[in-house]
Amino acid sequence: MTLLRSMLGAALAAALATAAPAFAQDTVLNLYSARHYQTDEALYANFTKATGIRINRIEAGDEQLLERLRSEGANSPADVLLIVDASRLYNAQQLGMFQPVKSALLESRIPATLRDPGGEWFGFSSRARVIVYSKARVKAADVPSYESLAAAANKGRVCVRSGSHPYNLSLVAAMIEHLGEPKAEAWARGVVANFARAPKGGDTDQIKAVAAGECDVALSNTYYYARLLRSTRAEDQEVVAKAGIVWPDQAGFGAHVNISGAGVLKHAPHREAAIRFLEYLASDEAQRYFADGNNEWPVVKSVVVKNPALEAMGTFKADTLPIATLGRNTPAAQKLVDRAGWR
Ligand code: FE
Repeated sequence: MTLLRSMLGAALAAALATAAPAFAQDTVLNLYSARHYQTDEALYANFTKATGIRINRIEAGDEQLLERLRSEGANSPADVLLIVDASRLYNAQQLGMFQPVKSALLESRIPATLRDPGGEWFGFSSRARVIVYSKARVKAADVPSYESLAAAANKGRVCVRSGSHPYNLSLVAAMIEHLGEPKAEAWARGVVANFARAPKGGDTDQIKAVAAGECDVALSNTYYYARLLRSTRAEDQEVVAKAGIVWPDQAGFGAHVNISGAGVLKHAPHREAAIRFLEYLASDEAQRYFADGNNEWPVVKSVVVKNPALEAMGTFKADTLPIATLGRNTPAAQKLVDRAGWR
């Protein structure tokens, strides 16, 4: 009897110990992040300092995180998912992973085109997809637009990664919106017809291929080029000396822009902490860390980053298509690149 009572007492004490006061449930935030940069450490440390909320981070590739969330389902401990590109955010949204967030702060700080109208995800930094060209073999004026990559003059000269990669799917999604599907498909077929080699590698590999003379023009996200610009390695400096960038479609719809974005997950155990974290990411200080960490631009217009590579790349006219529109066009873009043989 005494033994039973003491066992019950111990169980009760254990139960009380785990039933922390209501406010304490939001002193932790579980973040699934596809980002990993040095400045992120300061970014997260400052959030904890300001709010007392500790961040547990799981870092993995975008696709791995989506897979993990799918298998965890309603039991997932994750509060916030941070991934890149419109097409992946759209995928996560279609899988029902996010919950809507209503925040006057996020709505006023982040341009409407860079967040989900329903509040399921928000852009926190932006990048552009640009044309890379050989300074020795190409005149920048001859490749002024995405459409010029399909021009007969560029036969056998184009390097680009797989058409199924999210970065290209989002670009094709934008082309569908601007040109209509038939013309966008003709364009994709034209790009494929101009390949210097079968698609392989990532964006940095395409930039290096241009410098190495394997091809004359390519496509890359800006931060890959910026990373090479900031590199102190002689071979990287040689690459950027040989390969320049063109801001595409400056006389037309502007350069294709995409985002790194985050949303609160549907089964988030710490919803309030998650919203506070997203709001923190939109603060001036966090915007600077977040964008600069990957040589991207802040989404909050009043925030300025001092980044030598971005300054060297200059200013440009950005396409203002809503990121949500790109996401919606992603399934059509995937079918289109398949039909065009852009493997
Ligand atoms: Fe990337």
